[in-house]
Amino acid sequence: MAFLPDGDVLLTHRLSALDCVEQVLMSHANPPLASRDVVPDGSVVFLGPQLGIGGEGFVVIAGPCAVEGREQVSDCADLVRRGGAGALRGGGFKPRTSPYDFQGLGIEGVRMLAEAGREVGLPVVTEVVEPGHARLVAEHADMLQIGTRNAQNFSLLAAVAETGLPVLLKRGFGCTIKEWLYAAEYVLARGNPNVVLCERGIRTFEGATRFTLDLSAVPMVKQLSHLPVLVDPSHGTGNRGLVEPMALAAAAAGADGLLIDVHSDAATARCDADQALRPAEWLHFADRLAKLLTGLGRPLLAPLPAFPVGP
Ligand code: PEP
Ligand code: MN
Repeated sequence: MAFLPDGDVLLTHRLSALDCVEQVLMSHANPPLASRDVVPDGSVVFLGPQLGIGGEGFVVIAGPCAVEGREQVSDCADLVRRGGAGALRGGGFKPRTSPYDFQGLGIEGVRMLAEAGREVGLPVVTEVVEPGHARLVAEHADMLQIGTRNAQNFSLLAAVAETGLPVLLKRGFGCTIKEWLYAAEYVLARGNPNVVLCERGIRTFEGATRFTLDLSAVPMVKQLSHLPVLVDPSHGTGNRGLVEPMALAAAAAGADGLLIDVHSDAATARCDADQALRPAEWLHFADRLAKLLTGLGRPLLAPLPAFPVGP
């Protein structure tokens, strides 16, 4: 499927004249490829055969904000797996507001994350911050994250799209829903259909929370788009005390899953320490979430539709 630039009548006629073309359809949806019209039942994005985001089930991706060392990420991997997470998160490349803050361990951190994921049998999600890093990071990751600060970095979106890996696209904290969907369109238009959106809070006048987590974006995006939507209550609030209530609210609002900061020793975390769930909080939360999901009929480990095989 391809969409033509608006009003390209000549190209439409030329395509219609080709023997191999049955019909040229004009989409009036904008943005067209992300539109719900394209996949009315909603897309499922696979991170390997065991994990699909967007189906019947609910997926939790959890782990430390940053990979800080082999032992730390391995402890976190074990912890998140015990709480029923479907994938492990952790940043090797950290886009920090201040250049004086810990910037991550780079590709070495990404390698440690991959190793920790293998140890516990979980796929891994990590951020890419530069187009030139996309291929290298893709060799070690199962899903590439685009952070809020890069949501409209179009050359970066193109580079991650071309790896063919699933892309977790955070909402820019200054982006409208339409701008966010157009950012997704940059990946989809490059022939990579595997985009998962993630609401992570926007900037408002409110200063009591780090950002304002826009949960109304979840049902809104679900109406507009077929793409799965996750919610990140950790970055959205910046406060571990608000993570559980907002995560449960996100599940109730129809999100397909969550992205959560969990740390085995949050007091020593080198990045976003205030928002990371500590081990007991995480396991308590996982228990409460499982109960809510049972009530909602969205089990954590739901049977998946068939994994697409071959080209
Ligand atoms: C993150 O998830 O590690 C992160 C940096 O998030 P955001 O881009 O939403 O701030
Ligand atoms: Mn963080």
